[in-house]
Amino acid sequence: MVHKLRISSLIFIHILILLHVYYFGSETIGSIDFQEFFHSFIKLGVINAGGLLVIFAFLFTLIFGRFFCGWACHFGAIQEFSWYILKKLNINPQTIDSKLVTILPFIILLNFYLIPNIYYAYQNDWSLSIAMNEPEIWEFLPGFVIGTLTFFIDGFLIVYFLGKKGFCRFICPWGAFLKIPTSLALFKVRKTGECTHCHVCTSECPIGIDVSYEINTFDKVVNSNCTSCMNCTSGCPSNALSYKFSNPLNEEYRLNQFLTKNNAYTHSNISKTFKKIRKSDYYLLGLTLLLGFSIDSLYGMGHFMAYGIGLIISYIILEYSKKYSKPSRLLLTVLFISIFIWHGTVKYSIWNGIKLYNQGDYNSSISNLERVVNLYPKKIGRFHIILSEMYLDSNRFEDALEHAVIAKEINPEHIAPKQLIEIINSKRN
Ligand code: SF4
Ligand code: SF4
Repeated sequence: MVHKLRISSLIFIHILILLHVYYFGSETIGSIDFQEFFHSFIKLGVINAGGLLVIFAFLFTLIFGRFFCGWACHFGAIQEFSWYILKKLNINPQTIDSKLVTILPFIILLNFYLIPNIYYAYQNDWSLSIAMNEPEIWEFLPGFVIGTLTFFIDGFLIVYFLGKKGFCRFICPWGAFLKIPTSLALFKVRKTGECTHCHVCTSECPIGIDVSYEINTFDKVVNSNCTSCMNCTSGCPSNALSYKFSNPLNEEYRLNQFLTKNNAYTHSNISKTFKKIRKSDYYLLGLTLLLGFSIDSLYGMGHFMAYGIGLIISYIILEYSKKYSKPSRLLLTVLFISIFIWHGTVKYSIWNGIKLYNQGDYNSSISNLERVVNLYPKKIGRFHIILSEMYLDSNRFEDALEHAVIAKEINPEHIAPKQLIEIINSKRN
């Protein structure tokens, strides 16, 4: 019954999203996206629909826990659906038990959403205003191709490799934002009856919490990943669990409920469905950060997709490929690392080339941006225009013309390459 209610809620929310996007548009209500709270409210003081959603979700979570994640989020829904499909196909991925790497969502939250926007607000005039129809729905969202790939990687592939709700556990910054109110929530899943240690609750949990371990150690689910889905309370054959209020003044908080919980996931009823990789935690975190950083923003990729790819590839290199022979493993590792070094070089060269261009150091900028246009498989007109301008400034007309022509081929409607070609031709004559 609870499960059906939750599925209905997820379907209903998605119908509302579709109605908003395709029927009502942005005229009265703009983007209702979590990132608006950071990009609009924290950065500029603008209160809009996305900002209100986050404030509401935060307060609601303080009372009821992460309902939003379990009952309304499309990323959560698609991962549960993927898990369901994999099971139907008789594919049974193990769910990864890794502790250190769970700080990755906090790093993404701090690095991309909190720190830069707080810093901007500190450096500039911050004043409160209301703009419910801003920004436009698609303003900060990726296009169709990148959007679809993001859903495929973070909704499906990540579940295949890292198990239940891999994206929510290892990447999602919005989940990280709601973790503190979840820990303080008044309503929690609590042990209210005799437990037989059957571990049905752990198997039913869609986000991979060892519910049985937690309720028998702490008398409640203390894991801040709990999305209040109620699969465990409704699935327990002994009626040992309830979703219950507790007076916060009487609530017991023990330090070890936030620590590594080494004995979780060890019971024989569930141990085969989980895989402990805690020994690789540091490496997995470090490699994921490195790989994610080296491709983030390339090809129009957002943080979610870049770090999702980084995490999956890191996991394949460090753990998944152990099942292959040593030479195959080495070959795979060299191949992946080479691809990421290549893209890391492109990313660094873009950053450095643009910086030097802005500083007027054209010679150094040219060598960086030439590297970019040679190595980057995606053709970007802007880099060719900048190169053309710099060559023109250095009286290297043939090079300037070559890049202006390429920029025009990439974007025939753009006015800048046409103007550049005219200027270059007039100077050559
Ligand atoms: S399903 Fe119920 S009885 Fe079984 S382990 Fe969980 S709480 Fe205990
Ligand atoms: S602990 Fe229970 S309520 Fe929380 S996510 Fe897992 S199954 Fe759902």
